[in-house]
Amino acid sequence: MVDRCAGRCGIVVCMRIILISAAALLVVCISCGLVLLFIFSSSQTQLSAEEYNSVQKQHVLYPSYDLDINLKYDEHRIEVIQKVEVWNTLQEPIPELVFCVEPDGYENVMILESAEITGEPPVRLDADLSKGILTIPLESDVAVGKKIAVTLKYSLNLFFIDSGDMHPYGNFAYAENVIQCGDFYPVLNPWEPGVGFRRWPFHPIGDPVVYPLADYAVQVHAGKDVIVAGYGFVSKKDNVWKFESKKARSWAFAASKEFKTLTGGTREIPITLYYYTGNEAGAAACLKAGEEAVGLFQEKFGPYPYKNLVLVENGYYSSMEYSGFCTISHSHMDLYSKSYSHLLVALTAHEIAHQWWYGGVGNDQVTEPWLDEALAQYSEYLFLAKFYPEFVSWWQQNTNVRKVANKYIDNAIFDYRDRGDYTRIIYGRAPAFIQELHRILGDDVFFAFLREYYREMTDKFATKEDFFRILSRHTDKDLTVLFAKYFRVFPDMDKWGK
Ligand SMILES: [Zn+2]
Repeated sequence: MVDRCAGRCGIVVCMRIILISAAALLVVCISCGLVLLFIFSSSQTQLSAEEYNSVQKQHVLYPSYDLDINLKYDEHRIEVIQKVEVWNTLQEPIPELVFCVEPDGYENVMILESAEITGEPPVRLDADLSKGILTIPLESDVAVGKKIAVTLKYSLNLFFIDSGDMHPYGNFAYAENVIQCGDFYPVLNPWEPGVGFRRWPFHPIGDPVVYPLADYAVQVHAGKDVIVAGYGFVSKKDNVWKFESKKARSWAFAASKEFKTLTGGTREIPITLYYYTGNEAGAAACLKAGEEAVGLFQEKFGPYPYKNLVLVENGYYSSMEYSGFCTISHSHMDLYSKSYSHLLVALTAHEIAHQWWYGGVGNDQVTEPWLDEALAQYSEYLFLAKFYPEFVSWWQQNTNVRKVANKYIDNAIFDYRDRGDYTRIIYGRAPAFIQELHRILGDDVFFAFLREYYREMTDKFATKEDFFRILSRHTDKDLTVLFAKYFRVFPDMDKWGK
């Protein structure tokens, strides 16, 4: 990951002068307490002028999150003070803030205590939390180029998961020896130009959250015997664990009193793996697979987008990707340690591939879940073919899916009637499309396309249109038969141009 301010200090100074002027203006007409609020807000701003212009062109917002988490480990509960700063980098005013709140999709998990404009004194806001959507109307619009900071206070009563549970159920939950928390905080939804914030009701299939890029500063207050694992570790002092992550899609953590660690990777991309006693064999295999996957995907797709990689044995059946951080299936770690299991290494490669396809190149996982999953799942195949060829026939069987309710892969998560159907299409049919494309294009063209797609769309939201627009630069072959087989809405490469 590139340091966001490196090499742009002059521009950064220029932007701060403008902001300090804006705050000084407030001194004339507003009480001293509020002036402090705006000076505090200004100091959190991370965007340089160049980055501001870049995000404005993309019609996106770039929030920064400050999460102060009080982890009550033995009570299976967290209390959170979340500050969100949003700079209006759009070309229109913002009348409200709308967040996706996955925990609200489950009963008796999240309790929202308050929403306020950050400051001394804070200004209380009316917030409506319903069906996983948090809407906060603002007293006045946030004008273009201005900022707003809000503070949310809430707590989560985590529920118990067992080793057979699947995501998204249990992304924020506790098991016998771990608390896992991903997708646990309100995430500012993407903005649709001329329309407003997008909103969708919670749907317990696939990944029901969409993550625009953001900066994170996190503090976790934990008991003295609790180990907290997360991406961007900065320091631990007096049982307060600090983390920072910039240009991230998401931030997640896991905590346990029983974590052991293994370290590996390279000097450029160190890998830390957290696991439990008894799973030494699985942990060693997982770390080895992690090292192999990072090396292969860098060679095939482009540079890894973060500074390091943290892998954590979780408490359930699924594995899950977050920026610079993957939770790896406890079930398969356990199974591998008892009897050699192909799924452990395959899942490890899959989640790591998401660092490119989800982390680097973002996409709308609610309306176009195939876009990152097809590539992550096919990356799994590339990984197995190179390092574990004995597992390729197993992978191939899983992708050769015929008995599905709907053969098309370009569906939103709402189009799937159940989790099994989603799994068969997204992890079976979608990578089969990529595999056929690879076969038709051949190695040289296929990987040149993927590298360009990665380079051009890193730090952005890719869509189906971007995928085919960039593909069209690399081939003149007639792909109509292939497209008709997999897509409900036919990709017209001539129309989408290059
Ligand atoms: Zn995936």
